[in-house]
Amino acid sequence: MNLRGKGMDDKEKKKKKGSQKNRSLAASSGAPPEKKKELEEARERVKEIIRILRREYPQAKTALNFRTPFELLVATILAAQCTDERVNKVTPGLFQKYPTVEAFARARQEELENDIRSTGFFRNKARNIIALARKLVEEYGGKVPDSMEELIKLPGVARKTANIVLSSAFRKAEGIAVDTHVRRLAERLGLSRHTQPEKIEKDLMEIVPRSDWLDFNYLLVDHGRKICQARKPRCLECVLNDLCPSFEKFTKGKK
Ligand code: SF4
Repeated sequence: MNLRGKGMDDKEKKKKKGSQKNRSLAASSGAPPEKKKELEEARERVKEIIRILRREYPQAKTALNFRTPFELLVATILAAQCTDERVNKVTPGLFQKYPTVEAFARARQEELENDIRSTGFFRNKARNIIALARKLVEEYGGKVPDSMEELIKLPGVARKTANIVLSSAFRKAEGIAVDTHVRRLAERLGLSRHTQPEKIEKDLMEIVPRSDWLDFNYLLVDHGRKICQARKPRCLECVLNDLCPSFEKFTKGKK
């Protein structure tokens, strides 16, 4: 189904998207004071994107199964370079075998590697999980801290993992998790021209309302999985195609 805007001819749409991209890039490059208006316009466009995505994906949340902040932390580490589905197959048995933070802290490296082998990069992941479990036991009373500052001190935990844990386990918005889907969609939608996750996150934090930080990652992930796929974005069916500066590029000769 093509849900492109009604009442606008192709010329108008092209003009609108071109100016949208320019505005968003101005916003992401650290706009000087006189560009305030452009920044405001970029914020308005993001608001509209979020409104549409919330309607499309009202249940957007992490696809990882977890019962406690620690389980989410472990699952998020396992999900690096792996699908959430695969992680969800591994974690029930894993959390049964190691039911507490202390149990992970006592785990033998080789044994844990075997337990998580199917998630890939299992040596590094096992090393990080054991090291972070030990640090949690020794310095945090076995509890996962609920601040970005403390979370990123843990082995194997960078801002992306910390943001997922903060938003989904603690409902705290301290940033926006930038994973492969957010990175791809932020670029295609003209929300950031950077490629480094930290810089993309900074751009997004400037234009996404703070009240939407909690869900923004999950909305883009759902849309990235369903429509704006890495190899073949389904632009003609996309509910954001009137707002997307990449629409023309991907549909050239296909309309
Ligand atoms: S129009 Fe195409 S490139 Fe833009 S968000 Fe939709 S699917 Fe992605």
